[in-house]
Amino acid sequence: MLERCLDHIDTMTSELLDLQKNLVSIPALGPLNGGHGEKQKADWLKGRLESMGLGPVRELNAPDQSVPCGYRPNLATVLPGEDNSRTLWIISHIDIVPPGDVSLWDTDPYVLERDGDTLMGRGVEDNQQGMVSSLLLAKALKDLAITPPMNLGLLLVADEETGSRFGLEYVVREHADLFGKDDLFLVPDSGSADGSAVEVAEKSQCWIRAEVNGKQCHASSPEQGRNSLVAAADLILRSRALYDIFDKEDPLFEPPMSTFEPTKKEANVENVNTLPGRDVFYFDCRVLPDYDLDEVLAELRRMADAVEKERGVRIVLEVTQREQAASPTPQDSDIVVRIMKAVQKIYQVQPRPVGIGGGTVAAFLRRAGHHAVVWAKIEHTAHQPNETSSIQNTLGDAKVMAAALLGTD
Ligand SMILES: [Zn+2]
Repeated sequence: MLERCLDHIDTMTSELLDLQKNLVSIPALGPLNGGHGEKQKADWLKGRLESMGLGPVRELNAPDQSVPCGYRPNLATVLPGEDNSRTLWIISHIDIVPPGDVSLWDTDPYVLERDGDTLMGRGVEDNQQGMVSSLLLAKALKDLAITPPMNLGLLLVADEETGSRFGLEYVVREHADLFGKDDLFLVPDSGSADGSAVEVAEKSQCWIRAEVNGKQCHASSPEQGRNSLVAAADLILRSRALYDIFDKEDPLFEPPMSTFEPTKKEANVENVNTLPGRDVFYFDCRVLPDYDLDEVLAELRRMADAVEKERGVRIVLEVTQREQAASPTPQDSDIVVRIMKAVQKIYQVQPRPVGIGGGTVAAFLRRAGHHAVVWAKIEHTAHQPNETSSIQNTLGDAKVMAAALLGTD
């Protein structure tokens, strides 16, 4: 059954091209990215799913008054399997990011271009590669009249690029009935160029704004002021001790340790001969799931207190973004085992579970207690000008999905 399906997928290049051509031609930008949402592209997808015999398609519209139609569309459809109680869900996102500076593109970002194995256009990789792979698998099963051992669910979501509030987060919260407790989840939206990276965990993420208030004065008489830049530099250097305090390592992650990096620095005074009285800078922290972010914040606060005392400044620490990591998906869970076996069979590479620095939609699923894997064989040209994807990878990924669903034994 699997071999028949894999052979059939090899014949589906023209279907793949037709899907990509249509999907590229319909921009789906969220309002925060200056667009009108995903309705037009979702309507086209719904029609296509239905014409492929993959209906009924459930519409899970998230109300959003900032787009003309008043909602952000999410689509779900299930191809029934022999065991109706379990579903392998493949989740892809409909929205794209803007093309950016169009002069950096060699071609029109909204017209599909092909050069041999390479497709070019906004969205061809992110996330249409994964979406098209899942559609090809569903169509192959239909064409061959194969009933898979468990259900195959396709979930096409909105709003991935600007936070998922109207996308997967909404679906998991408002339509929890869609998912069974033994369901399996694959998010084909990140991975590695050889297909070996199987993402099962992520670090907690925390962004902190540090505002250092001293006293501005003429730089020739520093004793009359409090130099906020010196105090900021002091806090930055003290914060390096966070690496020693929270020093656990986990080889699953790359890099294996938590990271605490000062990043953005806002402008202070405009002229060289003024001693700054106010400095604002930011930390980007990626913390292993073992640690509570509150512990990190408390430690940084203690360091800020010491700087305040020593340098006579006041430091306000404000958390601007915070995401405590969800529990990792167990490496022996069914979805991880199936994807690892399938990757090995189709791509002949040694798959490895990995953790990443943070921030995929899998977290919404993991927090709800589901086992989710983020995987694709992908070149990582997403969000760049001249975004590309590989036809062979798209077909190959459809085969990995097929092997994960139908079983490799
Ligand atoms: Zn994406």
